[in-house]
Amino acid sequence: MEPFKFIRAQDNNNAIAAAAVADAKFIAGGTNIIDLMKLNIEKPHQVVDINALKLDKIETLSNGTIRIGALVKNSDLAYHPNISKNYPVLSEALLSGASAQLRNMASVGGNLLQRTRCPYFYDTSYPCNKREPGSGCSAINGYNRNNAVLGTSDKCIATHPSDMCVAMAALGAIIHVQGAKGMRSIPFADFHLLPGKTPSIETTLKHGELITAVDIPVMSFAVKSHYLKVRDRASYEFALASAAVVLDVQGGRIQHARVALGGVGTKPWRSTVAEKVLTGALNNEQTYRTAAEAALSAAKPYTHNAFKIELAKRTLVRALTTVGGMS
Ligand SMILES: Cc1cc2nc3c(=O)[nH]c(=O)nc-3n(C[C@H](O)[C@H](O)[C@H](O)COP(=O)(O)OP(=O)(O)OC[C@H]3O[C@@H](n4cnc5c(N)ncnc54)[C@H](O)[C@@H]3O)c2cc1C
Ligand code: SF4
Repeated sequence: MEPFKFIRAQDNNNAIAAAAVADAKFIAGGTNIIDLMKLNIEKPHQVVDINALKLDKIETLSNGTIRIGALVKNSDLAYHPNISKNYPVLSEALLSGASAQLRNMASVGGNLLQRTRCPYFYDTSYPCNKREPGSGCSAINGYNRNNAVLGTSDKCIATHPSDMCVAMAALGAIIHVQGAKGMRSIPFADFHLLPGKTPSIETTLKHGELITAVDIPVMSFAVKSHYLKVRDRASYEFALASAAVVLDVQGGRIQHARVALGGVGTKPWRSTVAEKVLTGALNNEQTYRTAAEAALSAAKPYTHNAFKIELAKRTLVRALTTVGGMS
């Protein structure tokens, strides 16, 4: 680990000013950034602790939107009564992640920005375009069982590891940020970037911008929703494939649908093609299977991860079956 200056910010403006210098990073729960610093993957020279900022509330706005402060812990969000009752997909996604101890430390803002678990990204003896732009991608012709099949490029095939983000993609969350030039709001779909030719640039967040909150817009039918995660062991493991599903079924037909996939995409993967198949269709297994085929139609397999395509389809069908059967 490189030496760094540690600053404990007292308010948003203070934090943003301290993070404006080159090579500065915020620290919230520290569950990802500290590992990355220990391994010399991230080498900030100034670390700005934001834990004293007043960003730890979950509020319901007058229009019903739920505003989640960036410092709300993953466990507090998962067990919040409004979330667990009305947005079970988000609660279940959070509780499927990491371990209880990690969820008690991990913040919502940090979860949005957690970095990939591609093993070559963490091993500095291997080339990796995401860690060192232009050095090459060791996964494309290497061991790529856990890598992505959707949204890949010839520069990077790393999966986005978050569970929470998959549910937020399905719910159409909005991310609020504050920087030296003021505040702005970013629709969830525009926040994470595909790797393309620049896999080291992962989001549209600018250097020094602070995530202040995430909004979950009102979605009354989200009470019927589910997050299903398939992984190599039952807990403390990242997804091989996961599905976040919200369905509004009336009179045997699907009126509204939200679908997002995890473990298979280079970003949290909202599947508007699957939603299109589902919307207006009969609520039955044939529809679910057609939607799953559509969701994975653009998938590109690599040497060791072709199994993920069928696994993701089955995961989505299972999640749709669960939600479609809720009375
Ligand atoms: C062993 C292990 C297993 C895990 N398993 C899972 C899993 O199964 N599923 C899953 O989804 N996750 C998993 N995680 C990841 C975990 O959820 C993340 O590490 C955590 O959410 C990051 O939050 P944090 O507050 O600790 O972020 P930090 O480590 O403090 O920060 C992460 C990044 O976010 C930036 N940041 C933090 N807050 C802000 C803000 N408000 N504004 C701007 N930038 C900010 C930091 O600068 C840093 O770049 C696992 C982690 C570990 C260590
Ligand atoms: S897939 Fe991405 S993160 Fe993994 S080695 Fe290739 S460039 Fe690096």
